[in-house]
Amino acid sequence: MIPDEMKRMHRMTGAERLGQNRDSEYLGAEDIDPGAEPALTIKALYYGVATLSNGKEEKEIIEFAEDSVPGIKNVRPMIVNATARKALRKLYKGTSAEALEGKLIKLYVIPEGARNPKTGEKVDCIRIKPEIPKVSAKPAQPVCAECGQVLQPFGSMSVSQLAAYTTNKYGRCLCADCAKGAAEKTQGE
Ligand SMILES: [Zn+2]
Repeated sequence: MIPDEMKRMHRMTGAERLGQNRDSEYLGAEDIDPGAEPALTIKALYYGVATLSNGKEEKEIIEFAEDSVPGIKNVRPMIVNATARKALRKLYKGTSAEALEGKLIKLYVIPEGARNPKTGEKVDCIRIKPEIPKVSAKPAQPVCAECGQVLQPFGSMSVSQLAAYTTNKYGRCLCADCAKGAAEKTQGE
């Protein structure tokens, strides 16, 4: 038995993972899928008082154009630290709003790459890759026609093989889970 309120909750399935749905205003290392290097477009730069876990602090913040990208389910604004500022300056020869708005950056996580200045505890940190992401190199992501999730490789099948297989067999592109559901349905009929 589960409490009644859990019946109203979202049950996580498939590739959904712990951490990516946590309640936070700003981007954290937990938002980035393990090993992912998500590319994001800088929409705007902000400066002002931000409410963080340690209290309120004056911060510089990047707002991104995307709501969700491969590697980050919930894109949130990112607090800019000195390391990020330096990386941006190297990438785009400046850190002004006009130099950075509309520009692409790629993020990655260094596990236990920093220390919490208050507790001394090792924490994961987000870094900006020292390379400009190539827009054209980003292939279109096949999406499941049933559940809307981006397709993941299944067994020995690559994403494109799975897309071709399910389109051929079921008449539309399906993820592995939905393809299984469709197979069971056809067997039951
Ligand atoms: Zn699906």
